Amino acid sequence: MSSASFARIDDSHDAALTSWVASANEPGSEFPIQNLPLAIFRRAGSSEAFRPGAAIGDQVVDLLAAREAGVLAGEAAAALEGTGDGTLNALMGKGRSARVALRRALSEALRSGSAAQAALQSCLVPQSQVEYALPCRIGDYTDFYTGIHHATTVGKLFRPDNPLLPNYKWVPIGYHGRSSSIRVSGHGFRRPVGQTKGAGDTPEFGPSKRLDHELELGVFVGPGNELGEPIPMERAEEHLFGVTLLNDWSARDLQAWEYQPLGPFLAKNFATTISPWVVTMEALAPFRAPFAHPEGDPQPLPYLSSPENSSHGGVEITLEVWIQTARMREAGEQAVKLMSSNFRDAYWTLAQMVTHHSVNGCNLQPGDLLGSGTQSGPDASQGGSLLELSQGGKQPIPLPNGEMRTFIEDGDTLILRAWCERPGAKRIGFGECAATVLPAKVANAA
Ligand code: CA
Repeated sequence: MSSASFARIDDSHDAALTSWVASANEPGSEFPIQNLPLAIFRRAGSSEAFRPGAAIGDQVVDLLAAREAGVLAGEAAAALEGTGDGTLNALMGKGRSARVALRRALSEALRSGSAAQAALQSCLVPQSQVEYALPCRIGDYTDFYTGIHHATTVGKLFRPDNPLLPNYKWVPIGYHGRSSSIRVSGHGFRRPVGQTKGAGDTPEFGPSKRLDHELELGVFVGPGNELGEPIPMERAEEHLFGVTLLNDWSARDLQAWEYQPLGPFLAKNFATTISPWVVTMEALAPFRAPFAHPEGDPQPLPYLSSPENSSHGGVEITLEVWIQTARMREAGEQAVKLMSSNFRDAYWTLAQMVTHHSVNGCNLQPGDLLGSGTQSGPDASQGGSLLELSQGGKQPIPLPNGEMRTFIEDGDTLILRAWCERPGAKRIGFGECAATVLPAKVANAA
């Protein structure tokens, strides 16, 4: 049906497949046997080494234990070589065929009636009993800006006369972020302190008063490219490993004062949170979608175009932001949804991000992380940040318990969620990307 290998469907995607892990078959399970996302984990509170795992229902398959038990052999066992260091970098560097071998072996071993059940049973750990590490060593982190609805709305707030700069529809805009402050879901962080605009041209100094989230997709680079060797569009998907959820925490008041002329710096680099599970490009195959710029907009330059990108370059992923305030948590109230959007509305595809990043010869490496930029939808209620939802802080957002929010307050937990659904395919989820904001630590306090 499709000439694009990255959209290829095989029997591991069959919506009728079930697993002998019963929780994977429950309606609404994020991790049915058609998903099989990867993470780095260990038993919570233990001192055992972090190790690679795959999600199935409410369990984690310990992949190295499964190899030890002989369940993962041949190409699937070879795919795991080098992951004993507690990162997925080695697997990422091996490319699609290794991932497919691992996925096929797991799918066969986990499906109902598999002879491997007895051996694999002892390699399962309940997700409720594990803690996660980052999936890999993230050498470099680049944050793109592919959400045109976000770029337009935020542009209006920062530059009312000139919201969308003329380069936006030609260049996949991005900047180099900081990888050292990326943490996996569940790790809180302190409210940042810094300079903000005061009266006239004199700054104020103190904790950020306009702390915000940004709803983004993160994509991990698989095999890299040599310095000086650009990745053409026809090969771009071969360099993608999988996707995660990414919260690009942003201090809007620091940002407004510092962002010209060189772009974001301390407003962004104090924390970034990602979800533990990496949904592989293979799991996303049933949810690929055609891609085109809106009619009347400039067509991408030839180096950013390919027939496969037009036919299958998009991905339909529903993205959501939820909030639970400290008061809600104390009262035992669940998080509430702030908004939802869909990644198909992004202005540039994952492949275009890869090709543009390397067009000047820049070398990408296994485990590099590319953020998509904030994914807001076309409607005002679909803002992927509080800056948008509160119209720059002017329109407070009421919560069901009577609290109001313009920006994030100490003790607030922000949660990103995502899922893919399409007729004929099994619904898959991404798990959670959650973190709680802690009070600021003021540098000159005793
Ligand atoms: Ca961002």
